[in-house]
Order: sequence, then structure tokens, then C-alpha cells
Amino acid sequence: MAVLSIKNWMDPVLRKKCLPIKNIDGELMTLAENMIETTLAAPGVGLAANQIGLPWRMFVINIGVETDKEDLISIINPEITAMEGSELGEEGCLSIPDVVAEVNRATQIEVKGCDLDGNEIRYEAEGYLARAFQHEMDHLNGSLFWDSIGKMKRDILKRKFKKKFKEQDA
Ligand SMILES: [Zn+2]
Repeated sequence: MAVLSIKNWMDPVLRKKCLPIKNIDGELMTLAENMIETTLAAPGVGLAANQIGLPWRMFVINIGVETDKEDLISIINPEITAMEGSELGEEGCLSIPDVVAEVNRATQIEVKGCDLDGNEIRYEAEGYLARAFQHEMDHLNGSLFWDSIGKMKRDILKRKFKKKFKEQDA
């Protein structure tokens, strides 16, 4: 397993609408393992394939996030099949380090997709886990969590991020 380098929001791959995965093979298994290791090392709640530079419809997520258990799953070609309620809550993103912003999300969702054996899997999620699924789904559609917070706020966060980026380079 390997920890992969995570692309930041300035990378155009994060703006791509990711493509469905057709072949679920050993290569994908290795990729999923590496994405899980990368998420745990960060540490983060989830990671979409385009965050490591691959514009494919797949993400990993810690479904134990609310119970403080580590329980990471990989989901391929995920779809949100039902959504209910709405709630503002704080979010962060491994591609926008150290930035948090309030985002409106559905409180309850149903998700379906495939696991690494190609079998259909379904999840019902609420609260923070539902938020995490929606955040990762956004990545697959080329969106970032701060897209919805308004340009002015986003520009302030961008400046903050770029400043930090420069300090790290120096
Ligand atoms: Zn993210």
C-alpha cells in the first residue's frame, strides 16, 4: 500500500466530471487500498479518485465516522438515490487544507454503487455521514464544497490558502 499525493483545488482535475468505471479489476483494488491508506494518513473522512488525479467515479469513505470507528469502504460508480431534509454544517476537504466552511446538505440520503467485487451495495446515511457522501459525490461531478458559499467568502478563503501555500514553499 502507498500514500498517494493529494491534488489541491488549483488542479483542473478537481473540476472534471468523472467518468464511470467499466472494469473492476485488480488494478482498481490496489488503487482503492492506496486511497484508503491515503485517507487514514491525512487523516480524512473520505477521498475521491480525482483528488489523487484520476477522473473516475469512485471514492472511499469512513462510514464509521460518527461512531469513531474506522470502517472504510470503497464505492464505485456511486449514485444518490434518495435525499431528505436539509441542514447547514461545517465541512473541510483534503484538497483545500485548513479551510472549513458551512455547507447546506440533505440530512438523510440513500446511496447505491458497486463494491470492489462488482456487487451492488447500498447505504442509508444520516447526519455527518450523509454529509460526507454528498461531499464526495460533489467531487465526482467536479464541484468543491466551497462552491456554494458565495464568491466573497470563497475569495477570502482562497487568499488564506494561497498565503499558507507560499509560507510552506518558503
Ligand atoms: Zn473533498
